[in-house]
Amino acid sequence: MIDLHTHSVFSDGTDTPEAMALAADAAGITALALTDHDTLAGLDRFMAMQPEVATLLVPGIELSCRFMDRPLHMLGLFLDFRDPLLAERIDTMRRLRLERNQAMLLRLRTRGLAITWDELAEEAPTDLISRTHFARVLVRNGAAGSAADAFRRFIGDDSPCYVAMPELQPREAVQWIRAAGGVAVVAHPGRGFPRGFRWDEAMLDLKAQGVHGFEAYYPDYGPLEERYFLALAHRLDMVPCGGSDYHGGHKPGIELGVGGGGLRVPDEILERLQGLMA
Ligand code: AMP
Ligand code: MN
Ligand code: MN
Ligand code: MN
Repeated sequence: MIDLHTHSVFSDGTDTPEAMALAADAAGITALALTDHDTLAGLDRFMAMQPEVATLLVPGIELSCRFMDRPLHMLGLFLDFRDPLLAERIDTMRRLRLERNQAMLLRLRTRGLAITWDELAEEAPTDLISRTHFARVLVRNGAAGSAADAFRRFIGDDSPCYVAMPELQPREAVQWIRAAGGVAVVAHPGRGFPRGFRWDEAMLDLKAQGVHGFEAYYPDYGPLEERYFLALAHRLDMVPCGGSDYHGGHKPGIELGVGGGGLRVPDEILERLQGLMA
């Protein structure tokens, strides 16, 4: 069992990288990737755990892109996370995210929702602030009944106070990842896109842009969806990846490796990814 998609306190998870490495080891997970949103900040601490655990620790990232005017997340795995050019590019992302968060804060306040920058900063363990932290403040202040309610009414992809992350094209994200020696994988296709979206055509296009694979295993896929994406990966000769998208306490019911309980990403996927870099 492997898990190639997880978040720590360095983005919108609640566990430290060290705790995650130890928990994966204890759970008998063969490989664990840390893929925080738009940051490499947790990877030094994560990779420093390698001598202590049998689990192979994989340095990764989840980059926020836009594709066909919808949010698309691109995972970069096996990155040279100390690459200076990559660090510079990620620093640009940090600044863009900051501006976007300020714009979203303004929209919320224009709607009469009392939410301050200080409250957000308090909720986020590092300077990486995501909508997960916005949702927590909105719940804490009583503006929303739950995180799901906050997303539905205010900050979800189709809700009035949502501001999209600035355009990072998948093509560019793939270039960043490949230039740092990594493998590019589309996260959770099917999420954030309309029903009936032609993933067969989109994936062919993304493959031509250098994407190596996409998630065919994901906790909230039904069996039909998993089968569809597995067949598509086979047909396009792309790697069917997957992971739990673990966020610790911010995503209750999702565990490392097993997701909601039934997730099983086969070890052979790891070997296929490593083969791409050989
Ligand atoms: P951001 O990168 O700031 O746009 O925030 C995106 C993050 O918000 C995702 O990675 C999820 O962790 C979380 N998120 C997005 N949509 C929802 C939702 N409907 N319910 C709960 N969490 C969500
Ligand atoms: Mn998240
Ligand atoms: Mn994602
Ligand atoms: Mn994720």
